[in-house]
Formats: sequence, C-alpha cells, structure tokens
Amino acid sequence: MRTCLSCREKKPKKELIRILLNEENGLTADLTGKKNGRGAYVCNSVTCVDKLNVKSLSAALKSPVSERMIQEIKASLEDSVKDKQCKQD
Ligand SMILES: [Zn+2]
Repeated sequence: MRTCLSCREKKPKKELIRILLNEENGLTADLTGKKNGRGAYVCNSVTCVDKLNVKSLSAALKSPVSERMIQEIKASLEDSVKDKQCKQD
C-alpha cells in the first residue's frame, strides 16, 4: 500500500499514479509502475492530481521541485486521469 500525496489515503499501488523525478526531464508520470527512480504517489483522480503542489512533492521526492515542473506534470497527467474520479469503495 502507498499513500497518496494529496489525500493521504493508503491505496494499492495499481490504483495510484507514480510520479518520478528524473534529473534530465524533470517530473514524469510512471503509469506502468516499473521505472526506476525516486517516486511519489498520487490517486488516479482529477481531484488529487489537482492538489499536487511544490511543498508536498518536494517533501515526497526529497528534492526541490519547481512550480513550473508541477504545472508540467499536471498538464501531462490531465490526459491520463481525465473523466476519472476517486473510487469510493
Ligand atoms: Zn488521493
């Protein structure tokens, strides 16, 4: 189980999106959960992706993250989380 950065809920890894910090490319979403690197988890929901911020991501990745990097990862995640909401089960 992993904790979502935004809502602090513990969920199975497959229900979360893994965000990786890559030194060359900044933040990238690892939708397969198989890439190497330091990662943070967020629910596969518009609500939780939208709550991502500099403070929570920097703390989770133990590395400073810029506002621009946050905007970029949110924009790239928009396609994958579109129309999805937090499952309440
Ligand atoms: Zn969440």
